[in-house]
Amino acid sequence: MKKNKYLDFENLIKLSAITLDDDERKIFQKELEDFLNYSEIINNFPVENLKAASHAVEKEVYFRDDIVKKWDNLDKLLNNAPLIEDTSFIVPPQKGRTADENGAHDMSNAKIIDHEEYEAVIGLEVHAQLKTKSKLFCSCSTEFGKKPNSNTCPVCTGQPGSLPVLNMEAVNMAIKAGLSANCQINMHSVFARKNYFYPDLPKAYQISQFEEPICSKGYIEIEIDGKIKKIRLNRIHMEEDAGKLVHIGAPGIWGSKASAVDFNRTGIPLIEIVTEPDINSAKEAKEYVIMLRAILVSLGICDGNMEEGSLRCDANISIRKKGETILGTKTEIKNMNSFKAIERAIDFEIKRQKKMKKFGFEIFQETRLWDESSQKTILMRSKEESHDYRYFPDPDLLPLVLTKDWIESYNKVLPELPLKRKKKYIEKYQFSEDEAKLFMTNPDYADYFEEVLKFYDKPRNCANWFFNEILCYASSGIKNIIITPYDLGQFLLKIDNDEISGKIGKYVIEKAFESKKSLNQIIEEENLKQITDNSTIEKIIIKILEKNKNEVESYKNGKTNLFAFFVGQVMKETKGKANPKLVNKVLKSKLDEIQ
Ligand code: ADP
Ligand code: MG
Ligand code: ZN
Repeated sequence: MKKNKYLDFENLIKLSAITLDDDERKIFQKELEDFLNYSEIINNFPVENLKAASHAVEKEVYFRDDIVKKWDNLDKLLNNAPLIEDTSFIVPPQKGRTADENGAHDMSNAKIIDHEEYEAVIGLEVHAQLKTKSKLFCSCSTEFGKKPNSNTCPVCTGQPGSLPVLNMEAVNMAIKAGLSANCQINMHSVFARKNYFYPDLPKAYQISQFEEPICSKGYIEIEIDGKIKKIRLNRIHMEEDAGKLVHIGAPGIWGSKASAVDFNRTGIPLIEIVTEPDINSAKEAKEYVIMLRAILVSLGICDGNMEEGSLRCDANISIRKKGETILGTKTEIKNMNSFKAIERAIDFEIKRQKKMKKFGFEIFQETRLWDESSQKTILMRSKEESHDYRYFPDPDLLPLVLTKDWIESYNKVLPELPLKRKKKYIEKYQFSEDEAKLFMTNPDYADYFEEVLKFYDKPRNCANWFFNEILCYASSGIKNIIITPYDLGQFLLKIDNDEISGKIGKYVIEKAFESKKSLNQIIEEENLKQITDNSTIEKIIIKILEKNKNEVESYKNGKTNLFAFFVGQVMKETKGKANPKLVNKVLKSKLDEIQ
């Protein structure tokens, strides 16, 4: 660096009144000169040519890899709990919560209207758990079914001073969902705090996205009575899940002695997919959720398991006069955890609202709960507005900034979408509408099936085995199918080549699910290969004919239907393993030989 023209070093030393030795003077002077020279360079830099950096900080600093690490001070965390039962925190019962409707209605002044004039308007909010290994803002595991509170750490239990770090894989998954739902992916999105108090929310705020979600707009196509209908999406945003309350002594909060809190679910990444109010019936709502589930499972970003709560749906429902464009007052229904529940709850709620209207009652904006036992929606609370949550950008997290390349990298690797897949099954494999739909709505089955086809090129036959023999063991998902696609392909080839009989094949599959052994191992261990060797079969037949002299005589005297009896005996002797064609041939010739 050259000497700086503005720096009068001697004067500066005098002004600062400090004593410096020679070496210190040199260092100090050089540092000052460098500093001033750099400011000059920066001041004169041509700003027009500068491009804005896409990241204020390096990706590596802002994001965490999706790796599970166990926090090793769990006991200490649990020790802070006021009340504990096993590994659950206990929350005392809450008073004053009843399922009663708000007051009896006076029907005397009711104006009767024709409720058939009304149509339903529905918007759905679906929460999907992302299939990451670790949580959204900490490295705790997301594994389901672990001991309560064992997947926890200071971050997800809301300990003061702990800080969130974003899981990059969750972001990638949200991008994939957005691209598959035809959304606009926003380069800039913001995590906000949604503030409310509930025992399952230890920070008393949920980190969510509010004004700037990661995806906006978009649509999903569903098929209704053979016609395609577009359901527009309003947004897809990322957020963290809350904990799980287990109510002691009752199935729900009402009537329970106390509630136990399990924070294992707290902080698991979710995406919330919000539609425009484009849905007009319970059936359409169900079809939409089926399609959305199929897309998310195809993408491998959600396991779609509704019973385990990986996919949860809230329905916003209002009614309005047909032809009307203004929306009516909506109610929001929560707690529907099956396709059947979604359909029934929405149907019930539409009827309830029409009835209210018919008798001239006002519909209040409220949150209602689907009660499985009574098959009714019941009042939960009057509906809060979004301003009640006091949303504000989370000061612990920077805005999420994406790049075009980042988004593009996923656009290239998106899997086949469900509707296209269904078409393929009908056109390429000639499957029926119902069969194709089954594969469409269960992409994990379709993936498995297509994998088998790589080793066994007869789709029809493969599907028959899949539907009739395999599927009954996979009711709770593909993970229960322990037979690898390669093994199944090879096995079906063996049946086609007469190495084992179809009947024994069915037995082998049953046995495989029962014993968790491989198909080959069972065939070997139980010696189930077909007997296709002439001389072995001949020996057995001679033995049978000798043992049944009377029957042979009757056969020879014209009772030819005894042929089946002899075949049966051979099959019994060989435990069903003799090749039937060969048995028929050899038996016929042996019987013919007898005089
Ligand atoms: P909130 O703030 O109450 O969650 P939003 O405006 O975010 O309400 O909408 C939530 C969902 O409810 C969306 O799917 C939206 O399409 C739907 N929705 C909004 N208003 C109505 C209405 N009047 N009738 C039916 N659905 C509605
Ligand atoms: Mg809502
Ligand atoms: Zn954690």
